[in-house]
Amino acid sequence: MVGGGAAGLMAALTAAEEGAEVLVLEGQERPGRKLRITGKGRCNLTNDCAPEDVMRNVNRNARFLHSALRAFPPSETMAFFESLGVPLKTERGNRVFPVSDKAGDVADALISAVERRGRILRLRAKEIVTAEGAVSGVRGGDALVECRSLILCTGGLSYPATGSTGDGYAMARALGHSIAETSPSLVPLTSPDGDCAAMQGLSLRNVTLTLRERGGRKLWSELGEMQFTHFGLTGPLVLSASAHMEAGKQYEAEIDLKPGLTEEKLDGRLLRMFAENRNRDFRNSLNDLLPRSLIPVVIRRSGIPPETKVHEITRAQRLGLLALLKRFTVEIGGMRPIEEAVVTRGGVNVKEVDPATMGSRLVPGLFFAGEILDLDAYTGGFNLQIAWSTGRAAGKAAAKRSMEA
Ligand SMILES: Cc1cc2nc3c(=O)[nH]c(=O)nc-3n(C[C@H](O)[C@H](O)[C@H](O)COP(=O)(O)OP(=O)(O)OC[C@H]3O[C@@H](n4cnc5c(N)ncnc54)[C@H](O)[C@@H]3O)c2cc1C
Repeated sequence: MVGGGAAGLMAALTAAEEGAEVLVLEGQERPGRKLRITGKGRCNLTNDCAPEDVMRNVNRNARFLHSALRAFPPSETMAFFESLGVPLKTERGNRVFPVSDKAGDVADALISAVERRGRILRLRAKEIVTAEGAVSGVRGGDALVECRSLILCTGGLSYPATGSTGDGYAMARALGHSIAETSPSLVPLTSPDGDCAAMQGLSLRNVTLTLRERGGRKLWSELGEMQFTHFGLTGPLVLSASAHMEAGKQYEAEIDLKPGLTEEKLDGRLLRMFAENRNRDFRNSLNDLLPRSLIPVVIRRSGIPPETKVHEITRAQRLGLLALLKRFTVEIGGMRPIEEAVVTRGGVNVKEVDPATMGSRLVPGLFFAGEILDLDAYTGGFNLQIAWSTGRAAGKAAAKRSMEA
């Protein structure tokens, strides 16, 4: 195994259970570093749903996962972690977490199980060695480790401090594999709109964010939580929206600040509010409707002079305000860098990999698992499920081959 992250640890444990001699090479001092920061430190380790539902939440090459997901679906993932002594609970949206809310418990349980049956060596692999076209070992520094099966699970390019620096792409490329261009997914978004910086720190709950091509069609929409930052937008809704974006295209985010109210109901609410505040200045009339830092921005965008007495506001001005509250638009500049992304889009071309075994179609003895593959999914535990299912498949097949020797 090269890489002791989610996929590597799952693959190692699986191969050991199959009876193979297992050695995990991990470049970091501690394996599973990224796993420990998943789900804001709580680890949303899977989604309690059917394999087909997982596939619907996979952005790229979902069909490739069919076989691995059928063999090791979320229900098996859950049973597996419970059997490792990690009790689980299921939250909103079928998201599964450890009862302890500690991602470290998931990582520690996996690592101890691997260490009971195999070895984890701190070594940064540099090159996969072949003999007569098949894997014969792996080199890191001065060390050469001989093996007949090697699972490459070095992850993607995001959060490089966790060890995911993209080493595996170069190693796979050196053996003839093609790498689909990498880009960030599930990443905060930048905006040239100064209003974002003016509202930085403001968190909005229960708003609907709609992603549109600039001035064009709606691409995606969901209810949830988001934040304004000095560079633009972040938060769960924004990360999910980013998964629907392509490099080079122009987008805008349209925020419905009052999704619970139809336009008619919101107009009724504005009329009541204005009646209660008739002699106030407009700028002092929105306190019950909006968070404080949003008020000056909404007032400026509404075009209604702030000192206007509320009873002087015209019907057209009120309807303009209503439209602004239902469709508060923020121009998107682009995505933050891949280092800040939750996952990497792109990776080892899955056409060159057998979906049942995760084995390379080019180099006998080489297998892949996890984010290094050109697979990525939305939030909700789906990315880790990809790591578990592909790790499981690769672990089984690699063990079989290594024991055939
Ligand atoms: C902040 C954050 C939160 C996330 N939260 C969730 C969540 O709640 N649910 C979810 O489903 N997904 C989540 N993800 C995504 C998920 O963590 C990844 O998809 C998953 O960890 C991928 O597993 P992996 O084993 O393929 O790669 P990684 O976990 O990145 O592991 C790769 C390992 O390979 C090692 N390595 C790299 N190069 C070498 C080398 N040359 N030699 C030896 N070792 C090497 C690295 O040190 C690392 O330990 C989150 C991601 C981030 C960044």
